[in-house]
Amino acid sequence: MKHSVCMFAVAVAASTLFFGCSKSDDAVSAIKEKTDAAVAATKDAAEAVKDTAVAAAEKTAEVAEAAADKAVEVAGAAKDKAAEAVEAAKDAGAAAAEAVAGAVAGAAAAVAPKEGTIRMITEATFPPYEFRQGKEVVGIDVEICKAIAKALGKELKIEDVEFDSVLPSLIAGKAELAAAGITVTEDRKMQVDFSVPYVRTGIVFVYAKATPFEKGEQAKGKKVGVQNGTTSADYVRKDLGQEPEMFDSPASAFAALKAGKVDVVIADIDPAKAVIKGQDGYDISDLLTVEEYAVAIKKGQPELLATINKVIEGLKDSGELDKITDEMTAKANAMAAAEEAAKAE
Ligand code: GLN
Repeated sequence: MKHSVCMFAVAVAASTLFFGCSKSDDAVSAIKEKTDAAVAATKDAAEAVKDTAVAAAEKTAEVAEAAADKAVEVAGAAKDKAAEAVEAAKDAGAAAAEAVAGAVAGAAAAVAPKEGTIRMITEATFPPYEFRQGKEVVGIDVEICKAIAKALGKELKIEDVEFDSVLPSLIAGKAELAAAGITVTEDRKMQVDFSVPYVRTGIVFVYAKATPFEKGEQAKGKKVGVQNGTTSADYVRKDLGQEPEMFDSPASAFAALKAGKVDVVIADIDPAKAVIKGQDGYDISDLLTVEEYAVAIKKGQPELLATINKVIEGLKDSGELDKITDEMTAKANAMAAAEEAAKAE
């Protein structure tokens, strides 16, 4: 019994041991398994990380490479563009420089008359203020401007343009003085500076004696001939409320009246008197307006304006202006008479 008990005991012990042992072996192997699995997982993970990292690195490299390529490309393009831009800028610069040089030269030519000369701009179809005697432009305005040139120690040069170009040409710097029987008006005062006035005058109707025009209303709805850009044109628009028929001189407007193309002409009284001189069938009305003529200069030259004013006041005070007016009126009349005589032949 003892043996069997012992055996049993041994058996139990052994089994215990065995089982005990086998239990711990299981645990070990389980741990091992787990560990292996973990190691494998870690390896896998590491592998995966590695793959990812490699892939990412590859991608990064690829992207970097592409970026580098792109950068090179862009840089190249930019370089090309820059070169193009430089060329364009050079061209533009050259063109701009040329334009500036041209403008400066033009402005210089426009601003600076030939050394020792001063330019007067006028419109020589306006006797007795300015008209042509042969090739020469003569008249009251010419004499006034000659006196101004003398006071400045300069020689007078005359530019003859259409009346509506006189002030724009002055403003553009093509002359220093504008004198063309120019009426001082509020509109014009905004564009140029005027001297003191040298004559008080106005506009009149020029009509055929058979159909006289004395009052403004009579011309309403009629064909009224005027010189382009003049206060007569303003009068037709503002006072008669209609469009005038335009001509380039009082004489051509009068020729249209004689030809029956217009019913009446409006012009400044002195050239109006000049055109009807020796024309029996025509007459002029009383003044429709009161206007004053003055010499115009580009704005902002107080010294030049003061000199011009002094000269004009001097001509008025000394009686010289009256003398000039009489002389030039006589000259214009003599010329008109000579022209009529030539036509009659
Ligand atoms: N005195 C008018 C004006 O200034 C006409 C001048 C002219 O025709 N020359 O408009």
